[in-house]
Amino acid sequence: MTSLNPTYTIGHQLIEAITLHTNRTKQQAWDRAVEMLQLVGVNDPEKRMKQYPHEHSGGMRQRVMIAMALACEPDILIADEPTTALDVTIQAQILELMQKLQKELGMAIIMITHDLGVVAQMCDEIVVMYAGSYCERGTAEDIFYNPKHEYTKGLLRSIPTTGSRGQKLQPITGTPIDLLNLPEGCPFAPRCDAAMKICIHKAPENMDLGGQHKASCWMNVKAKMEADLAAAQEAEKARIAAEEARRATPKGIVDDITREVEAELAAEAKANEEGGEA
Ligand code: SF4
Repeated sequence: MTSLNPTYTIGHQLIEAITLHTNRTKQQAWDRAVEMLQLVGVNDPEKRMKQYPHEHSGGMRQRVMIAMALACEPDILIADEPTTALDVTIQAQILELMQKLQKELGMAIIMITHDLGVVAQMCDEIVVMYAGSYCERGTAEDIFYNPKHEYTKGLLRSIPTTGSRGQKLQPITGTPIDLLNLPEGCPFAPRCDAAMKICIHKAPENMDLGGQHKASCWMNVKAKMEADLAAAQEAEKARIAAEEARRATPKGIVDDITREVEAELAAEAKANEEGGEA
């Protein structure tokens, strides 16, 4: 929205983008620009082409930016904070427009945003990034209903809800780390309430959590080790119980005695054999 040059008309900027990236003549670029403004819902596009950015509202300027981005028919649209500084009504219109265009033009959209409400509404696949690398990725359902990284959990906790009226907000405390001085361990450790010793010294590996869900957090390794240990203890308990149950039956008792006698006979036979050889 603020990327538009205030000293040039909307038409000039749209035509410049189109002629720079395609082989269209100026007239063809004009026609294409008008067509794109129509597509993104700008009324009276011919008139708008001759106006300057300050003559448009925030929502209208955002539509112009989308028209400019789509004019060259991209396969992927990268939208960096596309709804920042827009009021909620216009924000909803812009998001609806982007979804509509995505379906109509068959392109992919990469949204870069801090607004988890926008993410929930728009995204099928989510990548949560911290300190320049991704800490968790998965479907919208994975991230919102089963987060597996402490940063993601902190982000979700910090969203005010209607049920939290009157309660204190829960921000992620601390400040982002110096990207030129990354720590050897988990970059989120200085701000993480769940940080353990290992988090400070060793960066967590990216763990596969099933489907598309992946996360880099030692808590998942800990949970897996605990689950494996609990499963092994359960299996051992079941084995002992089965063994005790078997021994409690007459057949079990006879089997045990038979096994013992057979073992004794075998040992005796072996001893005799070795004695004979000597
Ligand atoms: S690896 Fe440790 S410090 Fe990093 S998010 Fe997980 S628990 Fe917190």
